[in-house]
Amino acid sequence: MTKKSNNQERDPAESVADTYNRFPVKFIKGRGTRLWDESGKEYIDLVAGIAVCSLGHCNEAVTWAVQKQMETLVHVSNLYWTVPQIQVASLLTSHSFADKVFFCNSGAESVEAAIKICRRFGHATRGPDCYEVICLEGSFHGRTLATVSATGQPIYQKGFEPLPPGFIHVPPNNSMALKLAAGPRTAAVIMEPIQGEGGIRVLEDDFLMTARQVCDELGALLVFDEVQAGMGRTGTLFAYQQTPVIPDVMCLAKALGNGIPIGATLATREAMSYLSPGSHASTFGGNPIACAAAKVVMETMTADGFLEGVRRKGTLLRNELERLGEKHKGLILEVRGRGLMLAVEFTRPIPQLATQLLEEGFLVLLGQGVILRLVPPLIITEEEIKDFIQTLDRLLMEQD
Ligand SMILES: *Cc1c(COP(=O)(O)O)cnc(C)c1O
Repeated sequence: MTKKSNNQERDPAESVADTYNRFPVKFIKGRGTRLWDESGKEYIDLVAGIAVCSLGHCNEAVTWAVQKQMETLVHVSNLYWTVPQIQVASLLTSHSFADKVFFCNSGAESVEAAIKICRRFGHATRGPDCYEVICLEGSFHGRTLATVSATGQPIYQKGFEPLPPGFIHVPPNNSMALKLAAGPRTAAVIMEPIQGEGGIRVLEDDFLMTARQVCDELGALLVFDEVQAGMGRTGTLFAYQQTPVIPDVMCLAKALGNGIPIGATLATREAMSYLSPGSHASTFGGNPIACAAAKVVMETMTADGFLEGVRRKGTLLRNELERLGEKHKGLILEVRGRGLMLAVEFTRPIPQLATQLLEEGFLVLLGQGVILRLVPPLIITEEEIKDFIQTLDRLLMEQD
């Protein structure tokens, strides 16, 4: 095929695939909690690149570490050892239940690796018919074929059939349904301890304990997808640390590199042993640049006072939202979440609210027009929280 001749005439943006509904704004600069568009307008970011830039845009320590690593060693593949990868693996295991870390480049890939661990584990310990993964309705695990099969939202699966088999779904917080679904085929149960994309739904302690118990009785693995809830978001380094259970496998990505793409699948020594040499791989996984960023993120988040600050600001934002809930009773149904992973569910869709907030200089996530999801940079200040609440209050007053 010859090259199209009219390339000069069309808007260059038309060359980008239309897989996203984007807001009509083009950002050119970021710093801390702030973003600037082409016209120089300043915004306060309560999205953080979807729970990614938790230490803020262009974080100085991350930038410095990545720049230095760029001048030292960029990539050699996993045929060899590199220093940053070993350092990040060691930081992750010393601050979690896990003994071993597999590195990849995204959330979907980290869940994909977890699924492969579960299948190998099931086959090896209980035979070839043990491959099923029990997942939750309303969950989100990624967009690859396997992870979209695990995802409990039919809207993401439509038109991509046939989906890989072996994934069944039960309602969240329904212990009876989970027990009934479990059996000899069950290799694993996977869940987000707080469902993120599904609208910030916190799983109940009783349900998590049932999942742990079901897995223990069957000899199955419990997988926590902490791609969104992990990395300090909920006020502890990992979300499982505020629950009564410990998983066998945990998926991380999003905030792990503060914007540099990196994912990680963490597991106990026993669970990870089923991924023997040659059984799984990723060319870029754990690359020195990504690990240089992740090392700074881990060091910053585990430093004295950081997580305490997240809890304090999370409580402030939650209290302020609940105060708005009292004031706008007819409009606000519920405030939920943990730490700086919060949502406000409205009693009816307010689809224009995200655009109105954007015009006022605030970035938010708004699911189906009805669930306002707030995952700001963890470095957001109390003053910025109060600014946002004031604007939200005024806009909600104008809705009726
Ligand atoms: C975002 C997300 C994913 C997918 O991550 P990608 O990097 O987009 O592939 C998986 N699980 C959860 C819980 C997520 O929030």
